Amino acid sequence: MLAASRRLPLRRTRAATDTLNTVEAGRVANGSARESASATRNGDGQSESELSSVPSEAGSDSRGAVVGRKRKRGQAAPVTVKRELDEAEVAAVASPRRQGKPKKARRAPAKKITGRDGSVKIEPPPNWETIYALTREMRNENVAPVDTMGCESLADRAATPRDQRFQTLVSLMLSSQTKDTVTAVAIRGMQERMPGGFNLESVLALEPPALNAFINKVGFHNLKTKYIKQAAEILRDKWDSDIPDTIEGLTSLPGVGPKMAYLCMSAAWGRDEGIGVDVHVHRITNLWGWHKTTKPEETRAALESWLPKEKWHDINNLLVGFGQTICLPVGRRCGDCKLAERGLCPSAVVGKKTTIKEEKVVAKVEGSGRDENVSKKIMVVEQRDIKAGDAQCGLADIEDIGRPSRYRR
Ligand code: SF4
Repeated sequence: MLAASRRLPLRRTRAATDTLNTVEAGRVANGSARESASATRNGDGQSESELSSVPSEAGSDSRGAVVGRKRKRGQAAPVTVKRELDEAEVAAVASPRRQGKPKKARRAPAKKITGRDGSVKIEPPPNWETIYALTREMRNENVAPVDTMGCESLADRAATPRDQRFQTLVSLMLSSQTKDTVTAVAIRGMQERMPGGFNLESVLALEPPALNAFINKVGFHNLKTKYIKQAAEILRDKWDSDIPDTIEGLTSLPGVGPKMAYLCMSAAWGRDEGIGVDVHVHRITNLWGWHKTTKPEETRAALESWLPKEKWHDINNLLVGFGQTICLPVGRRCGDCKLAERGLCPSAVVGKKTTIKEEKVVAKVEGSGRDENVSKKIMVVEQRDIKAGDAQCGLADIEDIGRPSRYRR
């Protein structure tokens, strides 16, 4: 087994302990504490099935709680369960997910270089072109929802250019906090069933409840109904019944922020005036270590400082689709990612670190003549990911057994 151990300060895990207290109380009440303790010590799977059959009268936790209050004849004595958790022993085990050593990947952000004359130049992250090309390769191999249902592709190509622009704007307004699939269904519904066709005049003519009915599966549909109605009136009154062709004009509409405005400028007017940074672009470029930003607007400024302009339109679609298929917000598939394979992503998950702790619980049986203490140790297992950026000190190798310093972070 690829393993190494070290002693660490113990962190108490109340939930696990509580479960044990309850279980142990039930066991003690049934006179089976010793057998079950021994089963657990031996790693016997049976102990787990016993956990799932805790008698309900055992009650829930607690410090000094008395379990089994109504004692009938022949039943065991009531039990006071006391939490006496002591540090006992801690071991750390790292289990690599893939064979062989993971490739090291360090954060390599864009750098600001100030020349002697005071001029400032931003040096792009090294390898960014390789990272970009490999991500494009992966995107071409995996069709993502954004490819067929993204806001750019939802406008009805048979409609007039003005109506297409309006449909694109509405698609973007609906897409916030909503899955592409849901937005697409709502837009299709309006295109197919809105009286007079899906355009500015039809939206103006609709009463808010009727508009709301078209978009009622979309996130925050009540608020979006209000914003779309207000925006439609502004477009009619101030923009000659078309959508604005500037970022300032677009962001002046209710519910339209910078991300939406840049995407809209690009999709509706074909002008790339900035990068549309959504959660995927923000999250993934930070995972790659290109910058350390906390807000999408900071990410946009950071990217625009060095990313060639011809990529400004593409990067949104590239990373939204990548975030939908491989680098998922939850449970990213680093095992299928070419960047992990090539050691290009410092956030690649290359293994799991399992920490095993022992905690001690004492159950006290209140007998008529004397008290009996039943003490038991339980194992608490915690797992966390090991990232490629940690690999130089975090992942066990066969040669590392007996070298606990490798686990220090
Ligand atoms: S290696 Fe993992 S974290 Fe890095 S880009 Fe690929 S999927 Fe995302």
